[in-house]
Amino acid sequence: MRADRRLWIAGLVLALASTGAYLAAAPGQGGQAAAAPAAPLNIIVFGAHPDDCDIRAGGTAAKWVAAGHRVRFVSMTNGDAGHQSEGGGALGARRRAEAQEAGRRIGVEYIVLDNHDGELMPDLRVREQVIRLIRQWKADLVLGPRPNDYHPDHRYTGILLQDAAFMVTVPNVAPDTPSLRENPVFMYVEDGFQKPNPFTPDVAVSIDDTFQKKIDMLDAHVSQVYEWLPWHAGRLDQVPKDPAARRQMLAKQREGRISPATREALVKYYGPEAGARVQHAEAFEICEYGRRPSQAEILRLFPFLPR
Ligand SMILES: [Zn+2]
Repeated sequence: MRADRRLWIAGLVLALASTGAYLAAAPGQGGQAAAAPAAPLNIIVFGAHPDDCDIRAGGTAAKWVAAGHRVRFVSMTNGDAGHQSEGGGALGARRRAEAQEAGRRIGVEYIVLDNHDGELMPDLRVREQVIRLIRQWKADLVLGPRPNDYHPDHRYTGILLQDAAFMVTVPNVAPDTPSLRENPVFMYVEDGFQKPNPFTPDVAVSIDDTFQKKIDMLDAHVSQVYEWLPWHAGRLDQVPKDPAARRQMLAKQREGRISPATREALVKYYGPEAGARVQHAEAFEICEYGRRPSQAEILRLFPFLPR
């Protein structure tokens, strides 16, 4: 009997210790140690391919994680067409592993849906996938591309998010997943397309303090940043072999990329001097189909903006 009791206590101590270890380790998965905020935000970012979320929102995601908020990345396709000499299931598996490594480096979970790359359609089946993911995450904020873009998968990801906004609150739609009581705020990530109208930032975030984390994420997508994209641009021979030199190339590619509209938004939030000094930024535009946030709510959703 006493031995049983000792075992029980030992089990309890082990369980508590492992819970403590988990809590301590979770933010450390590439993110900085975070004091949990009173009401953690749930942010979900959608991209068409297993590196799109990182490119457009990786630095801001690292800031949310560092502040103790919860971020999930979703790739709508498995990326199985994005390579010059590989393809199909083997490439899809490789890209899923790369995405998971990228997520691990900043402390976000990276979901890669098994829709084929280059074949994404904004149909009811895929819309319901998006609705369920937003509901399961109990999202406060949903980010994704605008439907104006060179790549059909990017365009349709934008359409799918527009089609999921509001419908996430309708209980009779995808009734197997409880609906949200309130429409989340939906925002578009930045792009450079001008027609029918250019991206107009409502929020701009300095990511100077998390820029290296963003490069860490991108560096995990080896098949893309060091193989497919340089090959497509005709510069595969210019990719260094040395890991440090490769990373440096990635950082250099992202220099001087702040558009005039985003610079203006940076000045609005950070003031003329600090706003002019920002080197790296990510920007977001409110989608009219989500909940319309007040300026106070924007500051709640982006708690690292100066106020
Ligand atoms: Zn893409």
